[in-house]
Amino acid sequence: MDFSIPARHARITEEILALAPELHDAQLQERDRLGLFSRDLWGILCRRGLHLLPAPESLGGRGLGAAELAAALEALGEHCDDTGLVFALAAHLCACVHPLALHGSTEQKQHWLTRIAQGGLIGAHAITEEQAGSDVNAMSTVAVREGDGYRLDGVKRYITNAPVCDFVVVHARTGHSGSFLDFSTFILERKTPGLHISAQPHEKVGLRTTAMGDICFDAVRVDESQRIGCEGSGGPIFQASMEWERTCLFAMYLGVMRRQLHQSCRRAETRVQFDRPLIEHQAIAHRLADMKVRLEAARLATARAAWSLDHPPADPSASAVAKLLVSDACIRNGLDAVHIHGASGVLSGDIERQLRNAIPSTLFSGASEVLKNHLVRQLRGECRRASRGVE
Ligand SMILES: Cc1cc2nc3c(=O)[nH]c(=O)nc-3n(C[C@H](O)[C@H](O)[C@H](O)COP(=O)(O)OP(=O)(O)OC[C@H]3O[C@@H](n4cnc5c(N)ncnc54)[C@H](O)[C@@H]3O)c2cc1C
Repeated sequence: MDFSIPARHARITEEILALAPELHDAQLQERDRLGLFSRDLWGILCRRGLHLLPAPESLGGRGLGAAELAAALEALGEHCDDTGLVFALAAHLCACVHPLALHGSTEQKQHWLTRIAQGGLIGAHAITEEQAGSDVNAMSTVAVREGDGYRLDGVKRYITNAPVCDFVVVHARTGHSGSFLDFSTFILERKTPGLHISAQPHEKVGLRTTAMGDICFDAVRVDESQRIGCEGSGGPIFQASMEWERTCLFAMYLGVMRRQLHQSCRRAETRVQFDRPLIEHQAIAHRLADMKVRLEAARLATARAAWSLDHPPADPSASAVAKLLVSDACIRNGLDAVHIHGASGVLSGDIERQLRNAIPSTLFSGASEVLKNHLVRQLRGECRRASRGVE
């Protein structure tokens, strides 16, 4: 095991650190209150090519692997106060750009990645429906064969970036065998006739500066050339996107936790109560130690998951373990940070925002209980195989 930081990780981290002053937004508190995504900040990310990090260099990307992308998003999480913006970028990269780069045809990559590079386009990834949340197999959006293409009908809910997106990667049912191979993935322009996006972003507890909305597909005509991968490959494409989100998108929270730990430590050093800095009261000092331990455990699990993605075949349990640890850690650390800051921690600002931004993390990219169910299924298989080996 090599724990040294590779030169490419260090370079991207330094690049993001240098960008931090440009990403600082004095209006963040107000935008967070109003739930406003910033096109200006998105433009800054695009000018630096951060909106195409995992795409091939020949098509305007940086060709980053999972470990490098995780390093980049961790650095953004730490140095950009607008976590909603980083979340919007991470969802676009992991669930739109990465599947295109990995599964898209040569023509699709040429067409879409070049346009994303030049136009700073924003992607939205749509699978969830009112009756198909954790249970994606209950999906009712259908793509029915019609001539040399498909007709798409259905409604997708809670879609990150939907109100501000330029294109949509959508999963729809193309089969009825009852298996995960019943789905196919399509890529569509926002302006496609019959595609309607809710006008007002949903109001939510955290990640408020990411725009979230619903997308209705009403007799939408899609050409066969808009299908990513072959018919029936939507399940594996979706699964791969989720593994990248659980690993790389969640690395954003590692960066947030690192900033939060430093803020909490500084507060505990400088705030004096009962004639001593708070950090000299052991109960507070141990809270800081617990925050550090959770962060480091989550970070190691993320590094292991990223390594697994970069050395296929990926072990899906690695990204599930990482996601469970990161989401648990960011909520617990968020609570500890508020507690250490006392009343000032509940006033509107970075500390209370970090906690609110952490709350939805146990739901998207695979809810905690559902990931645990998968882990236990895998564990039972391992146990059965191990006991057969013993017999
Ligand atoms: C901030 C945010 C961004 C999102 N972005 C997107 C996006 O870009 N694209 C997209 O398609 N979707 C997106 N979603 C939706 C997300 O994928 C769903 O919220 C998620 O799949 C869970 O579905 P649900 O909300 O319907 O909850 P449900 O599936 O109804 O689950 C509710 C609770 O029940 C638990 N539960 C469910 N099944 C079981 C079970 N078998 N055993 C034990 N417990 C169970 C869950 O763990 C959860 O705690 C986003 C959600 C959030 C919060």
